Amino acid sequence: MTDASDDPDTEPDTPEDDSYDLSADEQSAETRSRTPDLDDVVLDNLDTGDSGDSDEASRGLFDDLLEGEPIFENKEVLRPSYTPHKLPHREEQINNMATILVTALRGDTPSNILIYGKTGTGKTASAKFVSEELETTSQKYEVPCEVEYINCEVTDTQYRVLAQLANKFINKNVEVINDQIGELEELASRAREDDAVLADTTFESVDVIDDEIDSLAADKEEFEEVPMTGWPTDRVYSSFFEAVDYHERVVVIMLDEIDKLVEKSGDDTLYNLSRMNSELENSRVSIMGISNDLKFTDFLDPRVKSSLGEEEIVFPPYDANQLRDILQARADVAFKGDALSEDVIPLCAAFAAQEHGDARRALDLLRTAGELAERDQTDQVEEDHVRQAQEKIELDRVVEVVRTLPTQSKIVLFAIILLEKNGVRNINTGEVFNIYKNLCEEIDADVLTQRRVTDLISELDMLGIVNAVVVSKGRYGRTKEISLSVPTEETEAVLLSDSRLGDIDDVQPFVQARFDN
Ligand code: ADP
Ligand code: MG
Repeated sequence: MTDASDDPDTEPDTPEDDSYDLSADEQSAETRSRTPDLDDVVLDNLDTGDSGDSDEASRGLFDDLLEGEPIFENKEVLRPSYTPHKLPHREEQINNMATILVTALRGDTPSNILIYGKTGTGKTASAKFVSEELETTSQKYEVPCEVEYINCEVTDTQYRVLAQLANKFINKNVEVINDQIGELEELASRAREDDAVLADTTFESVDVIDDEIDSLAADKEEFEEVPMTGWPTDRVYSSFFEAVDYHERVVVIMLDEIDKLVEKSGDDTLYNLSRMNSELENSRVSIMGISNDLKFTDFLDPRVKSSLGEEEIVFPPYDANQLRDILQARADVAFKGDALSEDVIPLCAAFAAQEHGDARRALDLLRTAGELAERDQTDQVEEDHVRQAQEKIELDRVVEVVRTLPTQSKIVLFAIILLEKNGVRNINTGEVFNIYKNLCEEIDADVLTQRRVTDLISELDMLGIVNAVVVSKGRYGRTKEISLSVPTEETEAVLLSDSRLGDIDDVQPFVQARFDN
C-alpha cells in the first residue's frame, strides 16, 4: 500500500471529520485553535501594564499561552488521520477479514468482501490495519501481494478510479523496471571487466544483458501515465489492465465509501473490476468494498451484487462501554498524566453512544474538550468542557448542513426564521408558504407549490433543523406546527451568507405579508 501521507486519495477521512475544526490546515490547527483567545491575552497584558509591573508588561503576546501546563502529550492520536494499531472490540471483524485475505498469501485469489456499518464504527481503521499487516507479511514471505486503497468519496467516477489504479501500478512497474535495469547495468559493467562474473547468471554475454536492458526500457516506454481527464474510459481500463498484469501478483483493491461511487457514477466500475479475473493472465484482483449505507447493493446489477458480496462483514455500532475502552486507550497516549477528570471519558462515550455509537464523534469530543480546557488555561479537562465541546460540534454540524442546503430549502428555512423572530408561535405551513412566496419574488426564484414546500419542510425536519409536529385542531382538522430546532442567530447568519439570500435587505415587509394574506 502506498504511503498515505503522499497521496490525497488515500486519506480515509471524509470532510465531516473535520467539520468542527476551526482550521482546515491540520498542521497549524493547534496554533490557530488558540486564536480566539488572543484578544483576552492582549487585554490581560494591558491590565498588568496598568498596574505598573514593567516585567510583566514587557511579556510578549505568546508568553502567557506558552506558560499554561499543556494538557496534551500527543494530540495527533486523537485526530481522524491517525490509524491506531489496537482496535478494541473489532477483533472478530478483523479476524474475519484476515481469514478471507490469507488466501492471497498462498498465491490464490481471495473472495471479494463487502463491509457494512454506520460511520464511525471502525471500518476504515480496521481495513487499513488489516491491509498493512497483509502487505508486511507478504514481504516477509516474499509473496507478491499488494493492497490499493481508494477513497471513493474523493475519487468518485469510474474514470478517476481506474486512472488512479492504473497510475499506481504504472509507477510500481516503472520502479521495478528501474531497479532491474540498474542491477543489469551494474552486472554488465562488471562483466566488461571480467566476464567470469556471468558464470552463475543466465546471461551468456554482455550483449544479452544489453538486449535485456533494451527490452525493459521498451516496456517502460509503454507505460504512459493516464491523465486525470481526457482519455476514453476503455483506454484507461486497458492501461490499468496491462499495468496490473505486467507480472504475477494478487491485488486487493479496497474501495472505501463505495456507496458514494455507486450513487454518483453507477456500478460500471464494479462491474468491470469484478470480471477482470477471467481475462488476467499473470495477476489476480480481489475487491474489498466498504459501505456506510446498508442498502446500497439494492442499486447494483445482480451480477455485480453477487460477485461483490461473496463475503459480508458487518460492523455494528459501539455501545457506551465499548466507546469508553476505545477512548481510554487513546487518552492514555494523547493526554498528560492526570489531565482528564474522572467523568470526561464516560461522558464523551455517553454522548457518542447517542450518535449511533460513533467512535469518530467520541474522539472529536474528547479532543475538542481538551482544546477548550487548554484555552481556559486550566490543567484539567472537566465535564463542562465536554458539554461545551458537544455544543460546538453540534453547532458546526448545523452550520455545515444549512450552508449546503439547496436554495429553495434555504428560502423555506429563512421564512421560518423570520416568523420565529417576529414572535409568531405555532407556525403552520400556510404561514411559511406566504412568506416563502414573497421571498422568492423578491430574489427572482421560482415559486414552488405549497405541496412541495410542505415536502421541503419535512426534509428540514429529517435533517434535524426544524421540528414539525402534526397537531389535531379538533373539528378544524389537522395541521403542522413548525418550530426551529437550531439556534436562530447562527442559522440566519449562515443563510444570509448565501449570495442570493444576502440580497434581501429589508425583511420586515415579508413578515407583514403574513397578516395580509
Ligand atoms: P468508519 O470508517 O466506520 O466510518 P473509522 O474507521 O474511520 O470509521 O473510525 C472512526 C474513528 O474512530 C477513527 O479515528 C478510528 O481510528 C477510531 N476507531 C474506530 N473504531 C475504533 C476501535 N475499535 N479502536 C480504536 N479506535 C477506533
Ligand atoms: Mg470510513
